[in-house]
Amino acid sequence: MSKQHVVSAQAPEVCLDADDSMKKELGGGTFTVQPGNTLWGISQATYGNGAWWEEIQRANAARGRDADELLIGERLTLPVIDVDAPPAKHAAGGQTPATGGERRVTDFGTFDVYPDTLSDSLPQRVDGVQVVTESTFAERERAAKDMEFNPEIEWMDEDPVDGCVVITIAGEQVAVHNKAEAQHAQWILHDLRVTYGVTVDSEVGLKALRKDYEDAFMEELLKVQKTEWEYKELVALERAFVHFAPLLGANRELSAQAGEDQGVTTLSKLGLSISEPTSEGRASNTTLGEFFGAADNVTFFESGEEYSRQLGDNMRQLEGTAVHELAHALLENEVPAFVEAMPYWNRDSESSTAPDAEAPPTRYGRTNAHEDLSESVMLFFMDPNTLRTRCPERFAWIDALVMSWSDRECAQ
Ligand SMILES: [Zn+2]
Repeated sequence: MSKQHVVSAQAPEVCLDADDSMKKELGGGTFTVQPGNTLWGISQATYGNGAWWEEIQRANAARGRDADELLIGERLTLPVIDVDAPPAKHAAGGQTPATGGERRVTDFGTFDVYPDTLSDSLPQRVDGVQVVTESTFAERERAAKDMEFNPEIEWMDEDPVDGCVVITIAGEQVAVHNKAEAQHAQWILHDLRVTYGVTVDSEVGLKALRKDYEDAFMEELLKVQKTEWEYKELVALERAFVHFAPLLGANRELSAQAGEDQGVTTLSKLGLSISEPTSEGRASNTTLGEFFGAADNVTFFESGEEYSRQLGDNMRQLEGTAVHELAHALLENEVPAFVEAMPYWNRDSESSTAPDAEAPPTRYGRTNAHEDLSESVMLFFMDPNTLRTRCPERFAWIDALVMSWSDRECAQ
C-alpha cells in the first residue's frame, strides 16, 4: 500500500461548556502538508469532518496562491472552530438540521438529534449525518462510552512521528496515525456490527474471491492477499452505511425489505483483485470494490486507497465506491423493476436498443442494468445535482425507492 499518509497535527481537544452541552472546539496549531494531501482530507484528519476545508482555506488565504494548491512541506494554520456550528457550505450534504433538530459532532459520528416528542416523522437524512431522536442518541452515546477499548492501542499515547502504525482490532489490521483515530476506528467496527449487522472480516472476502475466480491459475490467485484497512476507509464506510440505514440491522424489520435476508453481512479488504473469472484471470489492481453475492460480502481493494477520479476527492470516492457496492448487495431485488422502468434497457437487462431513451449516468453504468442502478444510486447520494440534471428519470425513480424504505405505513 502507499506509504503517503496524512500526519495528524494533533489530537482534537474537546472543551465542555459549563452547561455540558457538548460544545466542541477543535483545531489550533499547524499542519505540515504531505504528499497526497487535499484540503478536504486535512480537514477530515484534523477536525474529523472534511466539510471544514473552507475554513482552513480561509485561514491560509494570505499565502497568495491558488487556494487548492498545496505544497509538500508547507505549514498550514489550523483555525480554531466551533464544530457545533455547521459549516456554511459543504457541510455533510450542505444542510443544517431542519427546525427542532440539533447537530452534534461526536467521536462516534455526526448526528442531527430531534426531541423524542417530535410529532412528525424524522426528516430525510443528510449525507454522512445520522438523523436520530434524543433517546436513540443517548443510547449510542452510552454504547460509545461503555465500549471497551482494545489494550493493544494503549501504547499509542506516543504520537508516531512519521506515517502510520498498524493496530489489530477484532482480528482486522487497521493503519492509523494517532490514538484518536485508533479509538474511532474501533468505534466504527463496533457500530457496523451493532447497528448494521455487518462484521469486518477480510478472510471471508478472500475465500469468496478464490471461489468466484477458481478458474484462474493458482499462481495468480495466490497474489491476492488480505491487507490492512486505512483509517480513512473505515470513516468512508461509516458514512456510506448511513445512506442505507433503514435497510440494515434492526431497522430492516421495519422497512419494505423486512423478512428478506440482508445482502451484506461482512466487509473485507484485499490487496489485488482478479481480472476475470476464467483461466485468463490475472491478479489486477484495477478494481476498487466487489460484491460477492454468494457470501453476502463486499470487498474493497488497495487500489481505492488513492483513487479519486470519478468524484474528485479520495474520501468522497471511497464513500462512493462503498455506496456502489452496497447498492449491489442491498438492491439486487430491485433490478427487474428498474429495468422495467427504464426504457433504455431490454428485458435481458444487458442490451439496449433504445438510443433515444435516457442513458445510464456513467459509461460504466452502460455495462448492464445492475451497474446502471449501482452507479445511479451512488450519484443519488454522492452527487445528486449531477444525477438530477443528467438522468431525471433515474433520479425520480431512486428518490421514490429511498422514500419507500422507511415509509412504515407502506411496509405494514
Ligand atoms: Zn458494480
